[in-house]
Formats: sequence, C-alpha cells, structure tokens
Amino acid sequence: MTMNLDFDRQHLWHPYTSMADPLPVYPVKSASGVLIELEDGRQLIDGMSSWWAAIHGYNHPALNRAVTEQLARMSHVMFGGLTHEPAIELGRLLVGLLPDPLDRVFFCDSGSVSVEVAIKMALQYWQAAGRPAKKRLLTVRSGYHGDTCMAMSVCDPVTGMHSLFSGAVPEQLFAEAPSCGFREPWREVAIAEMRELLETHASVVAAIIIEPIVQGAGGMRFYNPVYLQRLRELCTEHDVLLIFDEIATGFGRTGRMFAMEYAGVTPDIVCLGKALTGGYMTLAATVASGHVADTISAGNPGVFMHGPTFMANPLACAVAVASLTLLLSSDWQSSVRRIEQQLAKGLAPCNAMTGVRDVRTLGAIGVVELDKPVDMAKIQQAFVERGVWVRPFGRLVYLMPPFIIGEGELAALTSAVCDVLEMSAVSAPSNPDGAQS
Ligand SMILES: *Cc1c(COP(=O)(O)O)cnc(C)c1O
Repeated sequence: MTMNLDFDRQHLWHPYTSMADPLPVYPVKSASGVLIELEDGRQLIDGMSSWWAAIHGYNHPALNRAVTEQLARMSHVMFGGLTHEPAIELGRLLVGLLPDPLDRVFFCDSGSVSVEVAIKMALQYWQAAGRPAKKRLLTVRSGYHGDTCMAMSVCDPVTGMHSLFSGAVPEQLFAEAPSCGFREPWREVAIAEMRELLETHASVVAAIIIEPIVQGAGGMRFYNPVYLQRLRELCTEHDVLLIFDEIATGFGRTGRMFAMEYAGVTPDIVCLGKALTGGYMTLAATVASGHVADTISAGNPGVFMHGPTFMANPLACAVAVASLTLLLSSDWQSSVRRIEQQLAKGLAPCNAMTGVRDVRTLGAIGVVELDKPVDMAKIQQAFVERGVWVRPFGRLVYLMPPFIIGEGELAALTSAVCDVLEMSAVSAPSNPDGAQS
C-alpha cells in the first residue's frame, strides 16, 4: 500500500510550513538503528536524532520492550489521585541525576508545556512570597523555548516573530545573546547588559530563563560556562529565580549529562524533554527545588495550578525509564567524545568554503553556519539523494546524530554536508527567511 501523499499535502500541517504551497515531504516506512527507510526502499542515515530526541537510534529492542510490557499493564490512567510505578521510577532516576536542590518533579506533555509550567511556578512562587509585582521574565536574544504563547514570549524576538503576535504574547526583557564563545577566554563585558537589566528591573522580574551552554533552535550557539556562574550569582543577589531550559541539551548531548554541569551551577527550576524518552513519545518534566515547591505550597491557594490530562503518561514514563537506564549503563561519554572528534574533523573542510561563516562542534553537535539561508527545496533533495537525513534551518546546517552512530555512518553524514555545501546552488534566496523547520 502506498501512502496517500495528496491527502497529506491537502490536509496535514507540517511544522512551520505553508498549507497552500508546501515543499515535498518524504514518506517513511520504518526506522531502525540510525537508518530511516523511505517508502520507496531508500535508506537514509539519520543526522538529526529527530530533533535531539532519538539518542539510542530507532526501534531499539530495550525501548520497544518497555513500551509493550507497560502496554500490557495499562497505557494510561489519570494522575489526579492515582500514581504508578513508571512515574515513581522515572522521578527517582531524574532526582538522582540532577544536582541537589532540584528534586520536585512535575511531568508534562512536551517541552513547550514544561516551559509554561516552569514560568507558572516562578509566578506562583513570587505570589506566595508576597511579591506579586514580580511577573516579568528576563532572558537573552537568540533563545528558543518552544511554540506556546508564554514560551514564545521568551524566544528571540525576531526569529520568534514577536511582531506577528504583538499584543497576544507578553513583552519580556531581553539582554544580548551570550557573546563569549564556549572555548574563548571569559570576558566580563559579555554579562554587562544582563547585569544592568537585572539591576534596573529586579523588582518586577520573576525569573531569568536560559538554555545553558547551547542556544539551540535560536542559532546553535555555544557559549562560555562562566556566563552561567555570573547569572547564578546575579539571580541570588537580586532575588530572581533562575530557570534552565535543558530540553535540547539534557541527557548527554553536549558531552555532560546536563549542560549546566560545565558551569557547576544549579538553577531553581529546570526543564527537561526531547531525549527524555529516547525519542519514543512526547514527555517532559519541570523539576524545581524544594524551596520553590515549599514556597508555592505555603501560599494561596497552596497548590500548583497545572494538571494536564496525560500527565505522567505510563507508556511515556516507562520508555523514559528504559532510555535512561540504557544511557546510564552505556559508555555514552566515550561515544559523544568520539562523535565530537569525528564531527570536528569531518566538517573542517567546510571552513574553507565560500558562503560558510563558521564551523563549530560541541559534544554530539556539529554546526556549519552559512552567510545566507539555504534553499530548503534544493538542499533537502540533495541530502536525500546522498542517502542522509539532514534538515537545515535558515543559515544553519547541523548534525546531531544518535549516540550509537558508527564511524562509517558518521563519515557519510559529514562528507554529505561537505559535498552539498560545495555545490554552489545551496544558498539561493527563494525561501527568504528560511522559516521551514
Ligand atoms: C524543542 C525545545 C523546546 C520545545 O519543546 P517541544 O517538545 O517542541 O514543545 C523548548 N526548549 C528548547 C531548548 C527546545 O530545544
């Protein structure tokens, strides 16, 4: 049976895509290990981990088993008034992995929702602490925190299209994006604007939210860990909560279990998602410190006001437990280090190409930043023709493969990126803002 692509084209929205004139989508029949098999039988080596998520590759026997065993017991029960082993076990694992005061776990549906939850926690915290004027958020440019309205309000104002939603999305405070690179010597001036904004606005700021070390979808930028140490000091000094969005960076991607470990600092609230279930299904968690949770509980109405229908879905929790267990029992640090070295070496030839602004790697993330946005239609087809799945956005062509990728497969990915970028045709302006995701 062939898939009805006409139906897809006419009736199904795809992410950040025109409903009237969408680019072609590729029908997938199955996926296994690091291979995505298209309906026509072509196999593509996956360079994306399905947006940071599939760290163990696809169709993993241990993860499949966790889902089917849980399915035989129950796929879901409400979390109001009930609990279950998969949620308890996952909570225990997360609390064990996270640094000390982060030990109150709120399970939610997706990354964006976990950001909403973190922000609502911060607002309720200040309400309970008797400082209700603290309602605004402070963040940095080039951030990405999700697509729901509150999350959008802390995304980069330009790429997050704040003008399109002005009036509907709250106006937050923005400092310049962290300007000191991950491997550069620290420059104190890199935190100057943030410091100034805090000094001026602390009385109305509830929290700072930031992606630690790696700004993901907002630009794939890697910044200096000292920035986070300064932020922690400033937040404590000015009575502002600190929220780390580890949705993209969590679970080993940067070379540490959590990117915040590079800085050795702990936020008041952390958001987790994406790789949490090994890419099997949607699940996220917002984990707060005991102090945040206790303050909210001591306030009025004394409960945290959020409770999704599918909170702590047992199937998702069970596969997350299996994914974390698999990760912890593997030598993922060596895998990520090996991937980092090979990405750096394999993408290095791009440095010499015209139209390439920068090539950078951190952990299992390799980025080639171009001068101009790619022509998505052309570049997508070129990658598929070379047998790889690489999905650029805007001016960024990047690889973040599953940790299980072999040397030969990774070599195929990096040489495909080099080959495709060498073709002169990739950066044509037919897709002006590169908005296809
Ligand atoms: C993907 C992402 C989100 C949003 O997660 P969804 O599951 O897509 O809602 C939030 N923050 C960061 C840093 C992300 O990378």
